[in-house]
Amino acid sequence: TTVLISGATGFIAQHIISQLLAKGYKVVGSVRSTQKGEGLVKIFENSNFSYEVVPILEKEGAFDEVLKKHPSATVFLHTASPATFEVEDNEKDIIIPALEGTKFVLKSIKEHAPQITRVVYTSSMAATGTAAEILGGEFKGGEDTWNSITYEQSKENGFNAYCGSKTFAEKAAWDFVEKEKPNFTLSTINPGYAFGPQNAAPKTRELNSSAQMVASVLNATDSVPPISGPFVDVRDVAKAHISAFETEKAQGKRFVLSNSVFNGQTILDIIVANFPQLKDKLPTGTPGVSVSGPTAFNDKNAKSILSIDYISLEKSVVDSIKQIIDL
Ligand code: NDP
Repeated sequence: TTVLISGATGFIAQHIISQLLAKGYKVVGSVRSTQKGEGLVKIFENSNFSYEVVPILEKEGAFDEVLKKHPSATVFLHTASPATFEVEDNEKDIIIPALEGTKFVLKSIKEHAPQITRVVYTSSMAATGTAAEILGGEFKGGEDTWNSITYEQSKENGFNAYCGSKTFAEKAAWDFVEKEKPNFTLSTINPGYAFGPQNAAPKTRELNSSAQMVASVLNATDSVPPISGPFVDVRDVAKAHISAFETEKAQGKRFVLSNSVFNGQTILDIIVANFPQLKDKLPTGTPGVSVSGPTAFNDKNAKSILSIDYISLEKSVVDSIKQIIDL
């Protein structure tokens, strides 16, 4: 089987590709430049991996040629999306590439690749509720709920733009399937914050925004960074993408992925317990402080259909920190 994956350079995508190659799949990844593609060829060193350059996501027909060129591909994983909160123009740089990019790629698949029968879209837990609801601790939504953010609110700042972009793009994907009745079925993966090591050493690439959160605790000196949320390891997120297209019952389903909550202090406590040599450089904070966050959310599909044996926050943080220290 050949799998096409957009945004192949990404933190999550690189883990998906590694796992696909280990399972014997052929993988064609889309990247924004030849240089980025060649970088990946060196990282994966596997003749089953190749890349195609698609410089702009939010352009009608951007994927047409790539799809025509790979008639053996039967699966498309759409992971490419701006995963940053700091941009010049919230609408132009985050919302439009996510939303229009998703609509256009699905249209191209329908028109030029009828042999593609499974599409998995990388959404986010942010598409299932507002940040206030999810971080509030009482959140009972998830696979059956949506973030109520409006388009206007999403333009207010980079964080809102990101949450809105994931919500609007995922909704557009489900609408497309319902209205256009393409040859493929859709599944979406809705992870919390993804932590864990980079597939290739971080030197080759800037840390993406979620991995940066773990690094921010390692680099803290005076106070504990005010971060918190639902956590999932990137390797589990990758596994879920693959199970989602391999499993019959996953078709037409949303999958919320998170197995615990974190804050700056929980990450700090894990670092201090596992790397005592770093203790003196780091702030103390309030060790053992309790964490609030979503614990009663709806992830029934993920639990019953994908049955992931989740990697713990401790292992995830330790593996990330080890990789950073080794450099
Ligand atoms: P990365 O920033 O590592 O990856 C993002 C990928 O999308 C890169 O390949 C990037 O290409 C590409 N991309 C970004 N903007 C554009 C654009 N305008 N046009 C074309 N390609 C673009 O982040 P992640 O791996 O974390 O994110 C991957 C997906 O997972 C995203 O859809 C994100 O929303 C989602 N997600 C991530 C979570 C997390 O905690 N990390 C949690 C929930 C969902 P390039 O390398 O060229 O910049």
